Amino acid sequence: MNPLLNLVILGSTGSVGTSTLDVVARHPGRFHVVGLTAQQRVDVLFEQCRRFRPRVAVLPTEPRAAELRRLLAAEGLVTEVRVGPEALCELAAASEVDAVMAAIVGAAGLRPCMAAARAGKRLLLANKEALVVGGGLFMQAVAAGGATLLPIDSEHSAIFQCLPEDRSTWARRIDHIVLTASGGPFRQRDPATLHEVTPAMAVAHPNWVMGQKISVDSATMMNKALEVIEARWLFDLAPERIKVVIHPQSIIHSMVVCRDGSVLAQLGTPDMKVPIAYGLSFPERIESGAPRLDFEQLQSLSFEPPDPRRFPGLQLAWDALRAPAGTTAVLNAANEEAVAAFLAGTIGFGAIHSVNARTLDRLPPRLGPSHTLDDLLELDGRARDVARQVMRELAA
Ligand code: NDP
Ligand code: MG
Repeated sequence: MNPLLNLVILGSTGSVGTSTLDVVARHPGRFHVVGLTAQQRVDVLFEQCRRFRPRVAVLPTEPRAAELRRLLAAEGLVTEVRVGPEALCELAAASEVDAVMAAIVGAAGLRPCMAAARAGKRLLLANKEALVVGGGLFMQAVAAGGATLLPIDSEHSAIFQCLPEDRSTWARRIDHIVLTASGGPFRQRDPATLHEVTPAMAVAHPNWVMGQKISVDSATMMNKALEVIEARWLFDLAPERIKVVIHPQSIIHSMVVCRDGSVLAQLGTPDMKVPIAYGLSFPERIESGAPRLDFEQLQSLSFEPPDPRRFPGLQLAWDALRAPAGTTAVLNAANEEAVAAFLAGTIGFGAIHSVNARTLDRLPPRLGPSHTLDDLLELDGRARDVARQVMRELAA
């Protein structure tokens, strides 16, 4: 009999959050949901509270919290509703909590991730932007807190599943890793027509159902750029040991090329419930609910190199990793602002890369060797200001 795992889901109303609750619901008695959090979707959070009965729910503002309290009271539910970023950190570090699923989107998830890391939790990391911004500081917090960091991003989960549990063997074993990328919805589109792309076209991913921000990142391949940076930290690899190949079927989720030339790959249908279930049950395996791979139906697995003209943002990952500390935080902040502006209809699809590249040019970070989380978040804020200025200039 497995001990009950007390679980918090940060960003429970999103794509990864709801898939996590789907896996949890398949295993009654194995997981206890202690806390759930959301940003805007109070109605979805309420339904989740009704079903999973968490002790705490967190929302960003008092009016939304009041709305949730009213809905809960009408049903006689006793979930305590707390407000603001500090409440997220307290929940992530609470003593009764064993595991934290970090499924907030963007750098907004960094502080609660760090709180969970410092408190030594089992940290299921979907929120790649937190690691892209936090970098070495994040990994130090994991080590200092004795946390167990488990990748949820499907590529990083694939690499993790191909490696032995004993991390001390990884450096000797790995020659390089190959992250697979679907190429997104515009893999074959004429690059000269990318300026015509609308938000609805960009979020219509051919293989995966995901939140809006990561869907746009998949269309620009900035998602893969962020994943290269994520892999650098998760697997302690020099940037040149991380490679990317386009694999349009999204069946191979990534590969490890070993020192002896042997290649290990993890395969499956494109469904986030597999990496989520592995994070929840590691080192065991539990039913995920994902559809099974049918080899008789599988036509072919194909591969192609990413075209740098179509996906100019991808190279920024290696450039930023080789630049001074903090550069990846600047890149992430610029990209978050550019994607939000694209989704709001204020900049075109092609401008996303211009905003990212120009912001990097204008804001070379000058962080000391012993910089703090506050230094990184201050840099994140300055990068957002620069990115917004760049967008004003592009519009003029
Ligand atoms: P969604 O946009 O679907 O969900 C984001 C969640 O975070 C929602 O619960 C949202 O609340 C909440 N949230 C949004 N902004 C804030 C904020 N500023 N503060 C606190 N909470 C906030 O995103 P996804 O589930 O797609 O992605 C989550 C993370 O997982 C991202 O970092 C993404 O890169 C990563 N990831 C996602 C994959 C996927 O398949 N979706 C695959 C691999 C990684 P509300 O619903 O109320 O707006
Ligand atoms: Mg991924």
